[in-house]
Amino acid sequence: MQQGRVSEMCGIVGIALEDVSARAAIPIFYALYSLQHRGQESAGIATVSGTAGAGSVGGSGEIHLERGMGLVSEVFRENLSKLKGNIGIGHVRYSTTGASTLKNAEPLVVDYRDGRIAIAHNGNIVNASQLRNELKKEGRIFHSETDTEVLAHIFVKGLMKHNDPISALEEVMRRVIGSYSLTMLVNDTLIAVRDPVGFRPLCMGFIEGEKDANGVIFASESTAIDTLGGITLRDVRPGEVIIVREGCEYESFQFCKATNKAHCVFEYIYFARPDSVLDGRLVYDVRLKIGERLAEEHPVDADIVSPIPDSGVTFAIGYAKRSSIDYIEAFIKNRYVGRTFIMPEREARETAVRLKLNVVRENVASKRVILVDDSIVRGTTSKRIVERVRRAGAKEVHLRIGSPPIKAPCYFGIDTPTREELIASSHSINEICSILNADSIGYLSIEGLIDAIGMPAENLCLGCLTGKYPVEVPGEECIAKQLKLWQF
Ligand code: AMP
Repeated sequence: MQQGRVSEMCGIVGIALEDVSARAAIPIFYALYSLQHRGQESAGIATVSGTAGAGSVGGSGEIHLERGMGLVSEVFRENLSKLKGNIGIGHVRYSTTGASTLKNAEPLVVDYRDGRIAIAHNGNIVNASQLRNELKKEGRIFHSETDTEVLAHIFVKGLMKHNDPISALEEVMRRVIGSYSLTMLVNDTLIAVRDPVGFRPLCMGFIEGEKDANGVIFASESTAIDTLGGITLRDVRPGEVIIVREGCEYESFQFCKATNKAHCVFEYIYFARPDSVLDGRLVYDVRLKIGERLAEEHPVDADIVSPIPDSGVTFAIGYAKRSSIDYIEAFIKNRYVGRTFIMPEREARETAVRLKLNVVRENVASKRVILVDDSIVRGTTSKRIVERVRRAGAKEVHLRIGSPPIKAPCYFGIDTPTREELIASSHSINEICSILNADSIGYLSIEGLIDAIGMPAENLCLGCLTGKYPVEVPGEECIAKQLKLWQF
């Protein structure tokens, strides 16, 4: 399913500083830096001057926008000084194939009858094509392929009808199906929104800005708030809209009171930083528990436990702790190699891989090695890694994986490939073990994952593991009826 695949995985921020002479772009820049792991394709910041949201939808502040392709440090240089204003939002976008263009970079800024709107979106709208067609029939024009633009049209329609952003957002929540955590500027008003089941994370806190200007912050992960020396107050609740008023007072509106949620398990497994607290759980703790649980579910006699850096580290620590097998690194990662650069010749590509990750031959030679990673998607990484450890002289190589087999695509914002490309969708665990040339393989069980996260299964989205999704996705099995979701 191609619709809406343009939004994908992202990191978002929103900041309103009380002092009108302070500049929100600077803390937003640092917050985006700390969320860089959530997206390396493009980055953008939109700012405006205002009295921290006098609440006037018709405020006349000019929205400044700077965005570009690449990392936060590449996109923002001198242009940061152009971003004037004490209120703003920011966005980093994940790299996906086919949609890597500036016109899809966010924040999206659109003009409407009474001013301008800027939106930063993390998630994926499942009914985007259907809504887009309806809107086109009404004569609405689209400039990009993003589902964020669909969201913007629905919001503006609601705004025209009610002349009130809160009522317009209630309408968005009723019509739009899928995952969306949003930070928005409606002229000079900062608003944060989280979809009714909370697929993607979003938290809020307080910071002290330049010249001691106090401010309110919303961010995908709490580490963004830590980076600014701020205090995380709480998660934005699923189905909640928060509007920042004058003096950084904020007001909350709870629209959807779904009993069950659908928090993404892959945030805990792979996507979020280990030092982030998502919906009340420190990701590091969850990963440590997963590692311990893996050791209980899949014990094996071995000499060392090693992570596949960096994503396997916390799991491997947990595995080593519970199994009492020494934690010794088989690989050292070169910190200075960023995204794997694509080189035309095979030989050059192999050098790039070795440059990024080097085997510590002495640590693995003649040893029985347990390698721990967070997940297997296509299987290419694990196959290459097993081969390298064997070539370095390991006697046995046992793979332990911190997630259950990924069998089905994600429609809610994680960039997973199609079913055909997912190794676990068409192969048994034994087949995977022999394809990857491992001596044994052990995946975490779904029950083990649920226990480690410490939330009831009814509050988690397990779609990529079970192929059963919490909302209607054309052609897929939906379990929404069994869950108490989308209740207004
Ligand atoms: P693969 O070679 O396709 O099996 O990729 C598995 C590796 O990719 C694991 O080591 C993960 O840490 C990492 N990974 C898992 N999910 C994603 C994702 N959505 N985007 C990028 N990397 C991922």
